[in-house]
Amino acid sequence: MQTSHNLEEKLNRANRALQLLSASNRALLRARDESSLLHDICRIATEIGGYSLSWIGYKKQDAAQSIRPVAYSGHDEGFLSAANMSWADCNRGRSAMSTAIRVGTTQLRPDILNDPQLSYWHEDAGKRNYRSAVALPLQVDGDTIGAIAIYAPEPNAFSDEEVKLLEELASDLSFGIETIRLRTAHEQANARIHRLAFFDTLTGLPNRNHLAGLLADSIAAAKQDNSQLALFLLDLDYIREINETYGHETGDWILVQVAQKLCGLVDDSALVARFGGDDFIIIYEQSTVHKVRNLAKHILAAIKQPFLFDARSFSISGSIGIAFYPDDADNPADLLSRADLAMSKVKGAGGGYCLYKRDMSCLLTRKLELVQRLECALAEGNLHLYYQPKVELYAGMMVGAEALLRWQDPVLGWVSPAEFIPVAEGRGLMPQIGEWVLKTACQHIKLWKSKGLNCRGKIAVNVSAQQFGDPYFLERVARVLEETGVLPSNIELELTESSLMDDPERMSEIMQSLRGMGFSIAIDDFGTGYSSLAYLKRFPIDTLKIDQTFVKNMLDDNNDKAIISTILAIAKQMGLMTVAEGVETEEQRCALQELGCVLAQGYYFCRPEPLADFTEKRLNLTCLLPKASAVKQTVMPAKGHAKGVAGSSVA
Ligand SMILES: [Mg+2]
Repeated sequence: MQTSHNLEEKLNRANRALQLLSASNRALLRARDESSLLHDICRIATEIGGYSLSWIGYKKQDAAQSIRPVAYSGHDEGFLSAANMSWADCNRGRSAMSTAIRVGTTQLRPDILNDPQLSYWHEDAGKRNYRSAVALPLQVDGDTIGAIAIYAPEPNAFSDEEVKLLEELASDLSFGIETIRLRTAHEQANARIHRLAFFDTLTGLPNRNHLAGLLADSIAAAKQDNSQLALFLLDLDYIREINETYGHETGDWILVQVAQKLCGLVDDSALVARFGGDDFIIIYEQSTVHKVRNLAKHILAAIKQPFLFDARSFSISGSIGIAFYPDDADNPADLLSRADLAMSKVKGAGGGYCLYKRDMSCLLTRKLELVQRLECALAEGNLHLYYQPKVELYAGMMVGAEALLRWQDPVLGWVSPAEFIPVAEGRGLMPQIGEWVLKTACQHIKLWKSKGLNCRGKIAVNVSAQQFGDPYFLERVARVLEETGVLPSNIELELTESSLMDDPERMSEIMQSLRGMGFSIAIDDFGTGYSSLAYLKRFPIDTLKIDQTFVKNMLDDNNDKAIISTILAIAKQMGLMTVAEGVETEEQRCALQELGCVLAQGYYFCRPEPLADFTEKRLNLTCLLPKASAVKQTVMPAKGHAKGVAGSSVA
C-alpha cells in the first residue's frame, strides 16, 4: 500500500515537473527582462510544481564569496535572509545551492535534517519543514552565474526522472537569461547609437539631426490645433575666443552651463536643442509675441551673468533671432533661415533679440551668399592686404602706408569692403578678420625687414568698432605680436570716430593699454562723426585722418575748406599729427599744403597696391609725386580717377 502510494506520489511529481517545464517554457517566451523571468520561474515552481520553496541565487565576487538571492517563491519566512550561504569551499558552502554553484553540477540533498554537512541550517530548515532539496546550476556564456534551488516537504522527494526534467528547466532558464542579456546589450548599443545620432554628447540636448524632425512635428501639431509657434536661434559670442585662449574644456563647460540655464528657463511648452557650435535653438509652442519677448529677455539676462570656471570669470553675450509659424514661414527650413536672418541683424547691431520682419528677406539671397563665402574666405586665403602709401605733401616722400583689406572670391569676384564689412560685422566675424589683418600686416613688416626694405613710417591697420567690443581683443593683439615678433612701434591702429562713442570709458582704457604696449593710435575718417575736438582730449590719440569728403569738396566749398583748416589748427594745438585722406589732384595737394597740412593719402600719389607691387615699386622709392609735379609742383597730372573696388579705402 505504502509502495503504491509512493509510486503514485512519484508519478504525480514527475507529471507536475512536466507541467512545470511547459509553464516555464511559456514564461521564457514571454519574458521581457531578467528579473521578472526569474520571479516567474520561481513562482511556477511552487504554484505548479507544488514545492515548498524555490529560489534563485547568483554568486557574488566578494571576499566571502557569498550568494545573493535574486528571486524566490513559496514559504520562505525569513529563511533566505538568514541562510548566509557561500559558494566557497567552507561550512556554509555545503548546501545544494552552494555546491551547485561551486562545482557546476546538479546537487541533491535527499534528507536535509539528517545530513551532518547541513547542520548549519538544520534548525531553520526544520522549522519550515524543508526536508529535501535539489539545486541546479545556471550556466550563462560558459560560466556558472548561480543556481536554482527547490525544496520539498518530504525526504527523498526528487526522483531521477524529476531531476532530469528540472535540469532541463534550469538549462532553458540559463538560455533565457543569456538571450535576455544579449538582447539588453543590443538594446543598449542601439540606444547609444540613437543617442549619438540624435543627441549632442556635450549638453545632452537634441542635436541638429534630431531638430529637423522635432521642428517638423511641432509645426504639424501647431497646424492641427491652429496655434502659433516661435523658433528662437540663439548665437553666443566669444566661445571661439575662449576656446582659443583657455582651451576647449573651458568653452565646453560654458556651453553646458548655457544649455542648463536655457532648460531651466523654459517650461513644458518649449524644447531646447543644440544647433551646433555656439548656436542653440528653442522651439516654443503655443507662443505669443508677448511670451516670446519675455523669454528672450530672460535668456539674455541669464547668459550675461558671469560664468565662474577654474577661479576665472567669463563674460559672454548672445543674439537671438525669432521667427513665427505660420506668419513668417510654414516649413522648418524657412523658419530656421528667418530666425537666422533676424539673429544676424541683431548681432550686427551689437546683440539682443529681434523678431523676424518681412523686409529682412529682400537682401537675403546676396547676403546669405556673402556670409557663406566670407566664412570660407579666411580659411581659403581669399582675403588680401593692399597697401596705400602715406605721403609727405611737400616732397612726396612716403612716410608709412595703410593696410587695406580686400576680398577676391573665386565665385563672386571682387567684393567691395563697403559691402562685405557690414556682413562680417553682422556675423560677428570682425574680431577674427581683424586679427587676420593685424597678423598679416605684421608678417609683411617682417618680410620687408628681412629684405632690408623700409616704408619710412608706420603701417596703419584699421580696427573696427566690433573688434573693440570683443572682450578678448587685447589678448588677440598680444598673441599676434608674440607670434610674429613685430614691435608695436611699427604699427598705427586706426579706429573710427563712432567706435569712440559706443562706450567712451572702456574705449579710453583699451586705448591706454594699446598705447602702453607701444602702438600709436589714429582716428580715421575724422569730421564725419559727432565728436568735438575738445572731446578727443579724453583719448590717447596720435593722429587725425581728415575724412576724404572734406578734401573732395574743399576747392569748391569754402565750408569744407574751413573745416579742414579748423581741424588742422586745433590738431596742431593738441600736438596731433594730421593726414588728409582722398587726395586726387595736384590742386587739392597744393591747397592742403597751403593750409599747413603735412601728410596725405590718395590716388594722386598712389592707389592701394597688392603686396608684390607695393614691395617692388614703392618701398625704397624716394618720391611718390608724379614726375612733372615733383619738379614744378603746379602742373595737374593727367590721371584717371575711376573708382573701382580696389580703389575704395574702406576697410
Ligand atoms: Mg583707414
